[in-house]
Amino acid sequence: MAFCLFTFAFCLPLQAWGPHGEITQAALDALGPNDALLRHLGTNAPKLVHYCWLGDYRRTPYERQGEFFYADDYLLFPGMERHLDHLVPEVKRTYEPYFRRALQALRTETPLNAARWIGSLLHFVEDTGSPPHSAEIRGDVHSKMENWVDAKLIHLPGYRPQLLGDTEEKALAGFLRRMDGLIAYSKERGDRCRPLVLADKRAEVEPIVLESALETSRVVADLLHTLGKLQAAHRPSGGSLSGSPEYVLRPQRGLERLQGKVVLLGTSYSTLTDERGRFEFRGLPPGRYEPAVVFGGVGLPHSSSQVQEGKHTGADMTTPGLTGTGLVRNPYFAVRWTSANRPEGWYQGKEVWEGDLIPLKDGARYTLRLNWEDKPALGDVILRFRPNTHPGLPVVDSAPFKPGTTEHAFTGSEKMKWAQILIRTTNAPTTLLKSVAITPEK
Ligand SMILES: [Zn+2]
Repeated sequence: MAFCLFTFAFCLPLQAWGPHGEITQAALDALGPNDALLRHLGTNAPKLVHYCWLGDYRRTPYERQGEFFYADDYLLFPGMERHLDHLVPEVKRTYEPYFRRALQALRTETPLNAARWIGSLLHFVEDTGSPPHSAEIRGDVHSKMENWVDAKLIHLPGYRPQLLGDTEEKALAGFLRRMDGLIAYSKERGDRCRPLVLADKRAEVEPIVLESALETSRVVADLLHTLGKLQAAHRPSGGSLSGSPEYVLRPQRGLERLQGKVVLLGTSYSTLTDERGRFEFRGLPPGRYEPAVVFGGVGLPHSSSQVQEGKHTGADMTTPGLTGTGLVRNPYFAVRWTSANRPEGWYQGKEVWEGDLIPLKDGARYTLRLNWEDKPALGDVILRFRPNTHPGLPVVDSAPFKPGTTEHAFTGSEKMKWAQILIRTTNAPTTLLKSVAITPEK
């Protein structure tokens, strides 16, 4: 049985390769207790069996054992501003950026943050090894084929993980070659399984899909082993920067467990605060950095900090500018880090900007506040409600709010456990709105 990630009622995300968790676990077991990656990640290493699902959480929050963060914070970054398809050929475009980003996290972020970034990378590697992902088969045959496998049989006794390269560039080249091999391995099996799935011959399909799951697990073991070796061989340099954004420590009602996202504007560096509201970067090249925090009701740059070689710098987080109130991250659309066009926390779909899914409390009252541009462009705003975060379930949309409507009150309920703001425009959200807010009633 696949690991349950959404709710007890809906155990599998749509179109998901069932045994992600087991594939990751088998790879972790193959590493051996003294592996450099396990030593570095420490108590965070076992969490990889959950983080390897992060790729399927696109646009939804990850919530598990006290952790609560938006998965997109580990999926979107400079150079990766959109979600890619998880099937060959498009999934191949994920390997290099997520490999480099995971390595960056190992060198500059806390082990917890690094584990999450590695989880995102593992998702795309593991999806690739699923026969219908490699053989580019969609629909009903896809779902059946990749879940017709007995996940309990995924183990790699005696497997010794291979080093894919001893420098970042050599390891990347070795990783890409390993992925080409995995695609060939699983495509051949997917092609072979297709007629068997159509003929409903599950017993004949299962051992073939298991072969792919095992090969995927070997690739994951090689990759984890290599990341650990690269991290251990890396000579630390640069300086560190840390801080505690005060509003993350005193969060809005309803977002008590949310971790704050800290980006260094104009760089590829980002991280999330820990449970004490503190963030830390290590190994930053010396220079001036401009931190910005993305959090409920917050989203403006802080004053810049100078990082010096071999020194620690405490970031000045006392002048957050407009702190505002509310549950909407980056409500002024002011923090742009992934790209110049994308406000953090907002995702551009077809003629719409989707905000984050915001948790509501049953029976609590909320107010949506819209601060329109003086001469708003064509467009409107809707509120989308859903009973849980499963992407396949029906949603309830409010009537459109047109320019001029500045407030709308609503109440959280069983059916309205999550709210999302959709700004419907083909232009930037700032052509329509100065800011948006959802505030809980005191
Ligand atoms: Zn996937």
